[in-house]
Amino acid sequence: MSARGEQRNRVLIAGGGIGGLAAAVGLAQRDHAVLVLEKAPALGEIGAGIQLGPNAFHAFDYLGVGEDARAMAVYIDALRLMDALTAEEIIHIDLGERFRARFKNPYAVVHRGDLHGVFLRACRAHHNVELKVNSEVVGYEQNGTHVTARLASGEAHTGSVLIGADGLWSNVRKQVVGDGPPRVAGHTTYRSVIPADQMPEELRWNAATLWAGPKCHLVHYPLSGWKVFNLVITCHNEARQPAAGVPVSEAEVMQGFAHVHAKARKIIHTGSDWKYWVLCDRDPVDKWVDGRVALLGDAAHPMLQYMAQGACMAMEDAVCLSRMVEAFPGDLGQALEAYCARRILRTTRVQLQSRAMGEHVYHPDGAHAQLRNAIMRAKTQEDWYNTLEWLYGGSGLGEHHFG
Ligand SMILES: Cc1cc2nc3c(=O)[nH]c(=O)nc-3n(C[C@H](O)[C@H](O)[C@H](O)COP(=O)(O)OP(=O)(O)OC[C@H]3O[C@@H](n4cnc5c(N)ncnc54)[C@H](O)[C@@H]3O)c2cc1C
Repeated sequence: MSARGEQRNRVLIAGGGIGGLAAAVGLAQRDHAVLVLEKAPALGEIGAGIQLGPNAFHAFDYLGVGEDARAMAVYIDALRLMDALTAEEIIHIDLGERFRARFKNPYAVVHRGDLHGVFLRACRAHHNVELKVNSEVVGYEQNGTHVTARLASGEAHTGSVLIGADGLWSNVRKQVVGDGPPRVAGHTTYRSVIPADQMPEELRWNAATLWAGPKCHLVHYPLSGWKVFNLVITCHNEARQPAAGVPVSEAEVMQGFAHVHAKARKIIHTGSDWKYWVLCDRDPVDKWVDGRVALLGDAAHPMLQYMAQGACMAMEDAVCLSRMVEAFPGDLGQALEAYCARRILRTTRVQLQSRAMGEHVYHPDGAHAQLRNAIMRAKTQEDWYNTLEWLYGGSGLGEHHFG
């Protein structure tokens, strides 16, 4: 085939975030030439920590980056839920040997940049992947055999399919689904990273810890080989304007947390260089495919962070997409339909359950909070593992657990 013919058979991916790069790796390994078009002038990730359930490790292994990914993770012992008003533990979920044996993989926390770096190295090392920055995809045209992505610069690139992995504000989604801007959740998240020795000594737990309080919560966990702690605190303050990574003073941060226990407030005081995000998600939709174009990751199913699964779902999408492209070698349109059909119920469940957890676990008050504590305390470790089976026991390839 001529060089031009080969180029027209490339897979185009809009977006070089965790989802886009994971998909590039998976497709390249199945002998597809891939062109990643990234809007930003450089490939990277902002923000600090990310939690990874065992399902993320199933995805790493499938994508051939398991060893590299395992090397940069911090393996935590427990998920701890604290009552932010009383500073008492409500429950913890043990992530030790029994958890690992049950789900065949660990639970870990990683730096976002490190996770993105794992996929970026794998892309750079693969001759099938080309990465192009300063390349914002603004729309596409397609016929029966090819699709052409149009860039803001006026350039155009033609390929066999286009994957819209361009995040929450996806331009590709505008054309595939056309459901307007994301839903502003009214929750503001503040993030800071602190040196580990600044974390109050009595709270330097090897756990991902959630302090749940009325209309607010705090999350902290160690990162980067225990050098730092990641602080992510959120308040349900009815914010209406979307925002991402805006610097904010400590005084402003504290406004939503005046009512929590002194121990929890002390954690906030250790933070510095706070930045805030106003959280958005979308209602699930039942189709992310338009002919030769499909969505992936946040572009397909943006969710609130309350199940810590957005990036995990994006990586599972990449696994499923690669597998379906392999399963339907002569018919990429059918491969995209099969990918969407296998992913949609699982990601819908995570989107909706993330919202519900915000309401019923992270932010309740009064009797609602007491009920949360009573229900959660009544569960054994085995009950928790059973509750999590559908999520952590799945590979995202289409098997559904509705138990
Ligand atoms: C506070 C917070 C905490 C979170 N914690 C967790 C967690 O613990 N665990 C977890 O699994 N997930 C977590 N998430 C979710 C996770 O960050 C996202 O789901 C994940 O990063 C989505 O990856 P993506 O590649 O789909 O999108 P993005 O990371 O948004 O990447 C999209 C990429 O596309 C580029 N782009 C945008 N538009 C265009 C365009 N038109 N053309 C070309 N390129 C474009 C962007 O520059 C970017 O590089 C959290 C999210 C938040 C907000």
